[in-house]
Amino acid sequence: MADHDYDLFVIGGGSGGVRAARVAAQRGARVALAEAAALGGTCVNVGCIPKKLYSYAAHFAHDFEDAAGFGWDVATARLDWGRLKANRAREIARLNGVYRQLLTGAGAEIVTGWATLTGAHAVQVRTAAGERHFSARHILIATGGTPTVPSFPGCRHVVTSDSMFDLDPFPRRLLVVGGGYIACEFASIFNGLGAKVTQLYRGTQVLRGFDTDVRNFIANELRKTGIDLRVDSDVRAIHRGAHCLEVTLIDGSTVAADVVLYATGRMPNVNGLGLDAAGVAVGKHGAVLVDANYRTSVPSIHALGDVTDRVQLTPVALGEAMAFADHLFGHSGRAMDYEFIPTAVFTHPAIATVGYPEDEARRKFGRVAIFRSEFKSLKHTLSGRDERTLMKLVVDAATDRVVGLHMVGPEAGEVVQGFAVAMKAGATKAVFDGTIGIHPTAAEEFVTMREAVAR
Ligand code: FAD
Ligand code: NDP
Repeated sequence: MADHDYDLFVIGGGSGGVRAARVAAQRGARVALAEAAALGGTCVNVGCIPKKLYSYAAHFAHDFEDAAGFGWDVATARLDWGRLKANRAREIARLNGVYRQLLTGAGAEIVTGWATLTGAHAVQVRTAAGERHFSARHILIATGGTPTVPSFPGCRHVVTSDSMFDLDPFPRRLLVVGGGYIACEFASIFNGLGAKVTQLYRGTQVLRGFDTDVRNFIANELRKTGIDLRVDSDVRAIHRGAHCLEVTLIDGSTVAADVVLYATGRMPNVNGLGLDAAGVAVGKHGAVLVDANYRTSVPSIHALGDVTDRVQLTPVALGEAMAFADHLFGHSGRAMDYEFIPTAVFTHPAIATVGYPEDEARRKFGRVAIFRSEFKSLKHTLSGRDERTLMKLVVDAATDRVVGLHMVGPEAGEVVQGFAVAMKAGATKAVFDGTIGIHPTAAEEFVTMREAVAR
């Protein structure tokens, strides 16, 4: 052990890397972490946190409109995009400092620079002061992912989600390509902030992998908010015109845009990492292959989070990091469980879900009972907003266990997080039925649905 500089060298200071480094150091390991950019990684700098802050900003547009039905006269509202960007940047800088403090406070050393594997126990980091070499008993790859854009005529004119937070000027006309989390969220956010948004999805319905009811319902709601959502559509070419980007679609029609956002997926961040030199095996799109304990094909090198291209969510990277650090440096054998991972899409209205979509549940469990409720929320009886809420339960008929819970509506993420605990504990429909609701809320609907709409 003493022949290495460190017990653990972590490459990547994002959600997974920082958590693994901090917990390992707290368990007494000698830890160093290399980060080439800002501490906190994707989530803190260009992901979850700035996205949610902008989502709050966008919600004000609805709130100002809704206020009239409740007796408020609100003067014409105007967005100061520069002020929003500056306030966001200040908060993110504060969080970067919090992450630094978490690491140094636990006793981990931070190395600023690009890290490359040079052997099974060796890492080289290009720092501002020159190359540094480290040896470690264990190395952890937690380098996350990076946006991908397909190649087509004019693809150099597009931006990815990384650039959306600091756009200058604010895009009056935004074209979003993709139908996944990022495309739907950014379409909602920029629509709320005042852009005219067109969203193109190449398939028949957005958000592949989600419950079919949820997909159809949110597509309708997004259109009601003013987003021009087009399915079975894609870009053929983009030309920079005198005043805008001229986008030609596959049907030959054109769209004028100030900014074109490509949200067409993310790839593992493995370029220039030296995986070949170290002999680390990779799978599709360069995803680092790992076993149940996050060990790669090289026993001393481990990987977790987005770079393994499994479930690309911050709480999953955090959970994996906890399991990894406990396994190597702790006493508990806590394993990460990948079933019933709740997730939310912060569209307006939001989506949140835990467990199986109806189709998948039918394939897995055979007989299921479906409970579904769709309604106008109490708030919108006075606001007049034409927004509806969807709540749906999927129950395994053989065991009565609730195996799927889906919601489209305000604060869906907040509602579903609580129900996720019950689902993880194996709650049956009888337990849901025996639970008293909190009135008047939307969430109470999940415990008051009595009649199955389909079996
Ligand atoms: P990252 O957080 O990406 O960290 C990797 C770090 O490694 C980066 O800081 C990078 O600079 C560094 N690095 C890479 N290579 C090297 C190298 N060779 N040397 C040194 N440093 C290196 N998830 C949610 O759960 N909820 C959300 O609401 C959500 N919103 C999102 C919104 C957007 C726009 C995006 C893009 C993602 C969002 N995600 C969300 C996903 C979430 O951000 C990721 O799943 C999470 O950040 C993955 O953590 P990670 O540690 O694997 O990698
Ligand atoms: P997703 O995989 O969610 O979606 C990618 C979208 O792009 C899909 O609709 C896909 O279509 C489409 N697409 C892929 N390739 C092309 C192409 N060549 N041309 C046109 N369309 C294409 O990726 P995102 O980039 O949206 O997000 C990455 C991940 O980050 C998410 O999967 C999620 O795990 C995480 N994330 C989580 C968030 C949250 O928790 N709220 C928010 C944002 C991101 P098709 O379906 O046909 O393949």
